[in-house]
Amino acid sequence: MNIVVASGKGGTGKTTIATSLAMLLNEHISKPVKIVDSDVEAPNAHLVLKPQINQTRDASIALPVFSADICTGCKICVDVCRYHAIVMTGEIPYVMEQLCHGCGSCTLQCPVNAITEEAHAIGQLSMGSTQAGLGFAKGELTISEPMSAPVIRQLKQWQLDADSINILDAPPGASCPVVETLRRADFALLVTEPTPFGLHDLKQIIQLVQLMKIPHAVIINRSNLAKNIIEPICKANRIPILLRIPFDKITAEQLSTGKALIEIRPNLIDELRQVFQSILKLTGQEIE
Ligand code: SF4
Ligand code: SF4
Repeated sequence: MNIVVASGKGGTGKTTIATSLAMLLNEHISKPVKIVDSDVEAPNAHLVLKPQINQTRDASIALPVFSADICTGCKICVDVCRYHAIVMTGEIPYVMEQLCHGCGSCTLQCPVNAITEEAHAIGQLSMGSTQAGLGFAKGELTISEPMSAPVIRQLKQWQLDADSINILDAPPGASCPVVETLRRADFALLVTEPTPFGLHDLKQIIQLVQLMKIPHAVIINRSNLAKNIIEPICKANRIPILLRIPFDKITAEQLSTGKALIEIRPNLIDELRQVFQSILKLTGQEIE
């Protein structure tokens, strides 16, 4: 089962919820639980969970390499590339690496097999576990590399286990990396805050999960900051609000030292367990 914890806006407490949910499920259910940090431009779940990493591998894309001896200069590859990553330099094509998505279309379409592919590392994937036995995986995009979606895709291919409860900590926003994280999700837990920016970005992520037909619900973090900002959109879209977490300064200070939310506020353990029970109910699943 794949549960994506997402938030249109960064800084709403998405990782705070994802790490604590994963920790408590690891303690309280019989299935294996894994947290998969898909926020590959700024992964930070490891700061809370402090896992032991025992395996790493590169995330890469396949860049086209053109053979000047075979290429006829037909430009089919230029036309095929929907990302406009290929230009002709004289009679020979040239790939602009920063634009190439490694989709392989040019290689497939070249009529004379003048294109081979070369792996180009764009990030690193790692896996391990915490002292408590919670499975852990994260992806990290190399600085200066522009494309995070392939790193997320490869992280998921490597680490999503059909027999586990996988909690995916999504990147902020509602663009390609979030779409990639949400693919094959069974449920999306949308963490928001009652601010105008929080509401604006929540509307975007709601549209996205509705488009992708993923069951979803909302958690309002810092719920005491303002009243009745988030509730109307949830009511209008019939989205359940599963939890409200009020802001307090001491919790915020302790979170900044790398403590988990349920360590700081154990009273939330039962409430987060209820959140999981609601997710099971909303997705029609049964897990002990
Ligand atoms: S499709 Fe093949 S033959 Fe045509 S320009 Fe590209 S590499 Fe050369
Ligand atoms: S692999 Fe895909 S994105 Fe890259 S140059 Fe070829 S067609 Fe364009």
